[in-house]
Amino acid sequence: MLFDTHCHVNDGAYAEDHPAVFDRAAAAGVGLMICPATDMETSAQCIAMAREHDGLYAAVGIHPEEAAKAQDGDVDKLRQWIQSEEKVVAVGEVGLDYHWPEPARDVQQAVFIDMVKLAVELDVPIIIHDREAHGDTLDILRQYGKGIRGVFHCYSGSLEMTDELLRMGFYFGFDGPLTYPNSKRAKRVASHLPLDRMLIETDCPYLTPQAHRGQRNEPAYVHYVAEEIAALRGIDAAEVARATTENAKRLFAIP
Ligand SMILES: [Zn+2]
Repeated sequence: MLFDTHCHVNDGAYAEDHPAVFDRAAAAGVGLMICPATDMETSAQCIAMAREHDGLYAAVGIHPEEAAKAQDGDVDKLRQWIQSEEKVVAVGEVGLDYHWPEPARDVQQAVFIDMVKLAVELDVPIIIHDREAHGDTLDILRQYGKGIRGVFHCYSGSLEMTDELLRMGFYFGFDGPLTYPNSKRAKRVASHLPLDRMLIETDCPYLTPQAHRGQRNEPAYVHYVAEEIAALRGIDAAEVARATTENAKRLFAIP
């Protein structure tokens, strides 16, 4: 069984055909999925969808690109959802994204700090989006994330950063870009990491694997990531599927 730990199946890209998307995922052996939110509205959507689909879980939180929308009271609402909604398994996706000039870095940092504190307070894992912000992401985790556990989604760090995250106990998520011929750094990291710290994701509808590049991505395609990891490590794709599913169940406390 495959576990896609990062799929935005609530996205408008699936408005027309989302039952078929779930059917294709099941047919492709994807039995478990996590739908991470990006703001308060999508947090509510992910929860509603998870309630309706066996095997689909939700993460709630405010993404760095949506940080300027954060309001007083959001953290309380997120806390309430995490405590009361059975299928909410994580805070996510949250973090820092310095690719674009907006929202301002201090605005993103303030929201990320709140999200880290919430995950620590409630003892739930965190799903981290870190784009071109490795240093500040690590600083915030060191300062506010004592004992935190979680995953760096679509991991893009250096071997040095990888070592530090391994020591901190983090997991590493790999997505479609791992299958791109020019993803040399991700391929190197994915071939050296301990298999028991790796997760597979689609981040759909984005980051479509090489085999379908240019089309909409969906959870059924997560097997391409497992196959790429297997090829890089010279092992069986079934072994990658089994290990990554076990890892995700352990991290997100899913039976
Ligand atoms: Zn995402």
